[in-house]
Amino acid sequence: MNQTREPNILPRSSHTISRRDIDPEALKVLYRLARNGHKAYLVGGAVRDLLLGKRPKDFDVATDARPGQIKKLFANCFLIGRRFRLAHIHFRGGKIIEVATFRKDPDPSEEIQTDPHNTFGSPVEDAFRRDITINGLFYDINSFSIIDYVGGLGDISRRRVCIIGEPSARYAEDPVRMWRVLRYAASNGFSIEERTAGAIAGNLHLLASCSGSRMYEEFNKDLYSGSSAEIFSLLMRHSLFSVLFGNVGRVLERQVEVNDELSRLLAVHDRLVLSGNTPSPSVSYSLLLWPWARIVMRDKGQPDSDKMKLLADELAASGMSMIIPKGIRASAVHVLEILDRMMQALETGRMRWSLLKKASYKDAVFVFSLVTQGRLTQGEDAFRAAYTAQHPDKTDKANPRKRRRRRRFRKRAPGAGHQAAGQEASRIP
Ligand code: ATP
Ligand code: MG
Repeated sequence: MNQTREPNILPRSSHTISRRDIDPEALKVLYRLARNGHKAYLVGGAVRDLLLGKRPKDFDVATDARPGQIKKLFANCFLIGRRFRLAHIHFRGGKIIEVATFRKDPDPSEEIQTDPHNTFGSPVEDAFRRDITINGLFYDINSFSIIDYVGGLGDISRRRVCIIGEPSARYAEDPVRMWRVLRYAASNGFSIEERTAGAIAGNLHLLASCSGSRMYEEFNKDLYSGSSAEIFSLLMRHSLFSVLFGNVGRVLERQVEVNDELSRLLAVHDRLVLSGNTPSPSVSYSLLLWPWARIVMRDKGQPDSDKMKLLADELAASGMSMIIPKGIRASAVHVLEILDRMMQALETGRMRWSLLKKASYKDAVFVFSLVTQGRLTQGEDAFRAAYTAQHPDKTDKANPRKRRRRRRFRKRAPGAGHQAAGQEASRIP
């Protein structure tokens, strides 16, 4: 792509973006920058989403004002970031509008960028350093027009995702861009331009060299996007799960039965997120790993084996490159083991009620209701209800209060235990 070419400018009369749809605080920031003689553009996902008739998640601003100049204009401004300084303008209710000075891709011939001023750039350079064409559009507050250096408008109307520049070079610079290509194709129902898609397989291995915690962050964006079923299905078709989750990902991707179950559970998760009941990470990751864990426990676990250790060992040996924080991984393993016992108890009627005392029991019930009913059951223990319905003869054991009373009675009157237990049992309907 030619970085010196003139942009395609779409005047206000030829596009659908109205200031009414722009966040009022973002508008204030844009206007103040413009009034003080700076270029002020709404950029990135906000322009893309507004053109697609969607509500943007956030409204990012780009300008030719330098960070120090931005700070002087806004009392509520904090500069963040060490190498490239971004301005965060804080508003009431915790809202933050991010303002970035136009920048360019660092020059690969300079190995270390010592001077941060070297990374500042012009609007055209800022457009070309972005990932995909539909994310490279600018909305100019001065003229209310859309400025397109990269061909994003054409790709919006063609409904396709196209990398900016030469695909392999852009993926090598930042392998997460492959992931982003798939994310925005799946979440918008767009196709992927041929070269953009074609270069993914040959560069996928590069993703493994990215930081594991960055991958976890990216993964959570998708997991909690409300479109995880579509996005993960495309990621799996391009073998990204194998890179992220190693052997675990390969099972999720390739075993049809596991893959189908995962798609079903992700759709359940999306419904929860979209209804405002976003689950905790421990619940989300248990749900995500359940189709895999069920198979592992079935195929590799012995009836009395330590299933928690089995799952923890399998995860540790999986070669996953994404780093799931230790605490979340540990609680997901706890939940999965309890869930397995619940499923067995339903099948066999045999239940160890000490399970109820486990710290992760509540989360496990939550996941149980999602796995078995595809929804959340409010206010009741979904597992106990299911167990009682399936094994009504075992109902007495399902009531720990009655068991506790029986034990206390036995203690106070040794020798009368048989009678007490008999009396207790006869009272149970
Ligand atoms: P979302 O609705 O998912 O937030 P977004 O487009 O705003 O979509 P962000 O991750 O918030 O996505 O990034 C903001 C913008 O920064 C993008 O629109 C894109 O222009 C640019 N960008 C983000 N990540 C990269 C990357 N890895 N390489 C190049 N440009 C990127
Ligand atoms: Mg964004």
